[in-house]
Amino acid sequence: MTQRLVKTRFAPSPTGTLHLGGARTALFNWLFARGANGKFVLRIEDTDRERSTEESVNEILESLEWLGLDFDEGPHFQSRRTEIYAAEVEKLLNEKKAYRCYCTKEELDAKRQAMQKAGKKPMYDRTCRDSGPNLGNEDTSSPHVIRFKTPIEGVTSFEDSLRGTVEIPNEELDDLIIRRTDGNVTYNLVVVVDDAEMGITHVIRGDDHLANTPKQVNLYKGLGYEAPKFTHVSLILGKDKKRLSKRHGAASVVDYREMGYLPEAMINMLARLGWGHGDKEVFTKQELVKLFTLDKITMSHAVFDHDKLDWLNAQHMKMLSDADLAERSLPFLHKKHPDARKDELAKLI
Ligand code: GLU
Repeated sequence: MTQRLVKTRFAPSPTGTLHLGGARTALFNWLFARGANGKFVLRIEDTDRERSTEESVNEILESLEWLGLDFDEGPHFQSRRTEIYAAEVEKLLNEKKAYRCYCTKEELDAKRQAMQKAGKKPMYDRTCRDSGPNLGNEDTSSPHVIRFKTPIEGVTSFEDSLRGTVEIPNEELDDLIIRRTDGNVTYNLVVVVDDAEMGITHVIRGDDHLANTPKQVNLYKGLGYEAPKFTHVSLILGKDKKRLSKRHGAASVVDYREMGYLPEAMINMLARLGWGHGDKEVFTKQELVKLFTLDKITMSHAVFDHDKLDWLNAQHMKMLSDADLAERSLPFLHKKHPDARKDELAKLI
């Protein structure tokens, strides 16, 4: 097999602020691509039109720029790619790999409750899979969703660079909805279509997506694409071992910029959240590009320590020349002392 050009992507949903977990995902993808002389793609996953905002898109772009995580392709916007998704859904329907499901919400609720009562995992019972309108007479006017035919027997497996081969019995996987009644396609479908179409070779993302991966692997097969290699990175926790959030201080990347942290320190800190290289703590970006490998990512949860960020910031400040430090400090000083001058500040430093 010929080695494909390494291509990674950062695929944020623009529904809020870019938090540290997202920034770390972006960094790992960027480092891996740069270290392999590959390409890094930015894809804005804005299919949820109600929750996606332009403000959030701008914040993502600003944050990446501040951190110096440049992309070679994009930003692609999923909201502008609906025709591509529609064609793929059509293809699956034509090949009988997907079907229209006319079960009403009430029917589905009743089925779910019955399964729960019987102590079974609630799943769609596949009533519409091989019945009625799906046997020739396609009824496209009645309200319906489109479901993907997940294999009924056997196992679905995929390679995770940290976990090795992950296997899931197919009986645990549902016939997932790929298009809703309102015509909107769903996350699992679009992410597969995009990653395949954009030639993504390595997907590095949070382990909150681990349950989605087998569903996506089946979609890759159904659509006739090769699945990428996966790496699922553990969550970032606060010192109290709870999921990192605003309670632990700033949560967004721009907050740290506003507080005056150096992007170099932030990059160093993010890299050390779940990745390491021996006992080394202080890394420049160039060193990270050289040293970063996926197999050194830890499976255990990373803990964000604010004191460590302060310490790293001090280390990176020491690496700057006086003139550079003066230049970078000046905007902050100007907020209180509009007359402060760079040459004087440099002397003082
Ligand atoms: N848009 C998804 C998210 O922000 C990421 C999808 C992915 O990485 O596959 O959680």
